Amino acid sequence: MSLRSRLTTAFLVVVLGPVLVGAVFVAAVMSQLSDSRGEALANSAVTMVDSTLGTICERIQASAAAVALNYSNSSGSEADAVEMAALLVDRSVIDGVVFSSIDTAGAEAAPRADVGVEAPDGAWVDCGETAAYAGAGPIEALGAQAEVQAADGSTAVFSAFRVVDVEFLGRIARVADAELVLQDSRTDPLEAGAVDAGRWDFTDAFLPLSIGTTATDVTPMYWTLAAMVTASAVCAMGLAAWLARSTTRPLAELSAAAERVSEGDLDVRVPAHGRDEVAHLAFAFNRMTAQTQAYVQALTASRDQMRGQLGRLGQTLTATLDLDRILEVILDTAMVTAGAEAGVVMLVDVDDADQLRQRAGEGDLGIDQPASIRIGQGIIGAIAASGAPAHGRITGGALGDWHRADTEPDARTIVAVPFSGRQPVDQDFIAGRQPSEPDLGAAPQPGGVLGVLVLYNRVAGEAFESGDVDTLRTFAGQASVAVENVLLHRQAQRLSLTDPLTGLWNYRFMQTSLRREAERTRRYQRPSALLAIDLDRFKAVNDAYGHPVGDQVLIELARRITAQIREVDLAFRHGGEEFMVLLPETDAAGAEVVAERLGRAVACRPFKVNESSGGRELRVSVSIGVAVLGVHADSATAVLAAADEALYAAKAAGRGTWRTAPV
Ligand code: GH3
Ligand code: MG
Ligand code: MG
Repeated sequence: MSLRSRLTTAFLVVVLGPVLVGAVFVAAVMSQLSDSRGEALANSAVTMVDSTLGTICERIQASAAAVALNYSNSSGSEADAVEMAALLVDRSVIDGVVFSSIDTAGAEAAPRADVGVEAPDGAWVDCGETAAYAGAGPIEALGAQAEVQAADGSTAVFSAFRVVDVEFLGRIARVADAELVLQDSRTDPLEAGAVDAGRWDFTDAFLPLSIGTTATDVTPMYWTLAAMVTASAVCAMGLAAWLARSTTRPLAELSAAAERVSEGDLDVRVPAHGRDEVAHLAFAFNRMTAQTQAYVQALTASRDQMRGQLGRLGQTLTATLDLDRILEVILDTAMVTAGAEAGVVMLVDVDDADQLRQRAGEGDLGIDQPASIRIGQGIIGAIAASGAPAHGRITGGALGDWHRADTEPDARTIVAVPFSGRQPVDQDFIAGRQPSEPDLGAAPQPGGVLGVLVLYNRVAGEAFESGDVDTLRTFAGQASVAVENVLLHRQAQRLSLTDPLTGLWNYRFMQTSLRREAERTRRYQRPSALLAIDLDRFKAVNDAYGHPVGDQVLIELARRITAQIREVDLAFRHGGEEFMVLLPETDAAGAEVVAERLGRAVACRPFKVNESSGGRELRVSVSIGVAVLGVHADSATAVLAAADEALYAAKAAGRGTWRTAPV
């Protein structure tokens, strides 16, 4: 059963119930009243008929008596009696008087004189005897007798009467306001009165009469009542329908709107009718939908922004090995995702594994860049030392037990996730000089902390949540992978350009360096020297002690060479036991000094070999050829050839010495 039907039913029951009960009660009362009124009318009519007939009878009796008295007073003078009777008839007290006599023998004599109308023949009802009519023949008159004893012993009888006819009955009917029917034995009963009788009573005082009175007809009132009840029912049903509709319509609109919202349509608004509770609900619904819509729009915008950022991040990760650029994009994306005002990426310092150095920073937090902090110090240092993410509000310059260091920004809220390297990075670049490279900013130790991703001041002043930590973990993971990728790439690059035995640059890199140097010399007219270094009688060392010992000699020679040259100089293994040293910005004289120094550094101390198995010392010498770019040659190939030639000259000169190429 719908709400609408329930409301309609309830309203009809509440309103129509009392109306129907009231109508039944009124009908019952009306019927009762009409009954009692009819009875009262009838009683009154009967009484009126009885008393009228009684009065008439009294007057008839009195008339008879008066005539008799007159007769008697005049000593039997009939003339006086007739005069009296005539007077009474004249006054309409009676219709007539019949004079008769009864002789002494008791026989009735013929009437001697009649006054008034002719005495009717049929039955008379004697006023002196109540209900005297015995039912024999039609009643013709109402009469009374008076007797006087005459002197001769006869009895004079005077019968006064009134004719009972339609006119007589009509007069009584008018007085009693009733319809009268004479109940005698005639076939066509005598009737009088114009009342449309609904109720009949009977009296037999003086005359047997049916008395008809009006019965109150309440049927029209019943119809009126029924019409009123019907009208109220129609009104009530109309009102109930309106009430139910006006109550349920806003609810139906609300439910339809809620359905559309559930299907994803957030543009829907509900019309609010009036200011009732449902209107308030509609207002609240509209507000809620509007807020949800704004929220969804904000979420969509932030999702689009994040998509853009992730796209940028993906592009950056695949397209570049520029670590700073990668870290910057990772930081940017993390800030957008977590809604932070500022952030930094700190990496472990390459030279000092206890130090964190800022490699990317966004947002202005009033701290000079780049900031650095010791692991274990301040808030970030403590988080890095703990190795676990942390987040919260910074109150009074402290996050929990950790107090802010001077190099840290004065932020309201913070979330920080440390990240560590997942693959051990090859560090064994031991022999000789580490080929010179830009500062990587991270010296990854397998399993150790590589850096920390930190965000400050969540937008809108809220604190960061554990969900932000999860988000940041992803970005920190990417940062760690990025750092490792760059390190691995650089390591691979380095390995492809270095000699695995000695760690010196290889032949390939020598070619590149020589070409670059020749070009520089050509352009700037600046000399660069090349030394060609060859071990003397090295074959004999191999033959005498074996190839592994020869290798140890080569490694030690590389070490001694790199120890003797400057930062900017480059040492190469040319192949076999032949080495090259490129000395930028160096002329022949400078190169000869280096050659001399190198020769001595090799020859002055014996080479220690086989140290693990007792050890042995070998005396070794080198021959060196010197050639200068811009002096002896202009190209890489030419200067190599010139240096080689000078080397042969040194060999020819008895070895363990140097020679400069001829000009
Ligand atoms: P010279 O004084 O004329 O240079 O005499 P040498 O014996 O050194 O002659 P040469 O330079 O022609 O000899 C090259 C020798 O160097 C041959 C080989 O046994 C040795 N050699 C070359 N490369 C390696 C290497 O990688 N390891 C070892 N142990 N020996 C090598
Ligand atoms: Mg050689
Ligand atoms: Mg040699």
